[in-house]
Amino acid sequence: MHKDIATPVRTKEILQKYGFAFKKSLGQNFLIDPNILKNITEHAGLSKDSGAIEIGPGIGALTEHLARTSKKVVAFEIDQRLLPILEDTLSPYNNVKIIHQDVLKADIHQIVEEEFKDVNDLMVVANLPYYVTTPIIIRLLSEYLPLRGIVVMLQKEVADRISAKPGTKEYGSLSIAIQYYTKAETVMVVPKTVFMPQPNVDSAVIRLTLHDKPIVEVDNEEFFFQVTRASFAQRRKTILNNLTSQLPNGKELKTEILKALDIANIDPTRRGETLSIEEFALLSNQLFSIYK
Ligand code: SAM
Repeated sequence: MHKDIATPVRTKEILQKYGFAFKKSLGQNFLIDPNILKNITEHAGLSKDSGAIEIGPGIGALTEHLARTSKKVVAFEIDQRLLPILEDTLSPYNNVKIIHQDVLKADIHQIVEEEFKDVNDLMVVANLPYYVTTPIIIRLLSEYLPLRGIVVMLQKEVADRISAKPGTKEYGSLSIAIQYYTKAETVMVVPKTVFMPQPNVDSAVIRLTLHDKPIVEVDNEEFFFQVTRASFAQRRKTILNNLTSQLPNGKELKTEILKALDIANIDPTRRGETLSIEEFALLSNQLFSIYK
């Protein structure tokens, strides 16, 4: 096996060799602890028949662990300066493809179709750039890519919100958006010291396992998410107040909204944070019959 890229000494050597300066605006905090990388990779449960998609390979610290444990890795990297470095550091691996693209703009469906024809399962594994954590995860899920799951490093505070349960202060529209598609678990809390440079916030690794079938039936997904966002617009307000002030013509439609709450068996004086995903689904289906 080759020497790990992610030891502090080797990382420094590589950065020096190429005169690489970190760009804060691209969320560049590289991992310099091979044990953490091994753990992240293990949580992904890859096999020699698995495909792996990575977002932001940096200098290849995680990429090489994925290359060793899966059939094929495709990694999206936005920073052109990293391409020659990756070509060098990943030269021992012939199952890695680097795509120089912003992952938020790439046609991931097409790339999956072309690159992962003969894999048994597909995982996204990444140490995400923190300035775009949420848009990346939402995009991967809302596009219904053929994924088994997602294992990613992100800000601990975002990890807490993603995996939050009803009745907690972290629970909100992000928890519901992610848990609608997946089972969400925080699998590791990670100290700042394993990064170069160290980020200002604490980090965690989450594992999202896609549901085999939707856990709730919603008539219109976009409207369901609109209702959940509206319900948390002002956390201290009741669900009724939030819905009437946030939904289109909410004030005029107060009687209808009250009726929808009644049919869904939800007390209008409750707060959004007390509603389960099942209750939000019932409610949004009732409200959708007013708005469709
Ligand atoms: N995987 C490496 C590691 O763990 O050491 C680097 C992780 S670093 C937190 C995030 C990486 O994502 C950087 O290499 C950065 O250039 C890249 N990146 C930032 N925004 C991106 C985007 N929109 N699309 C693709 N890559 C992006």
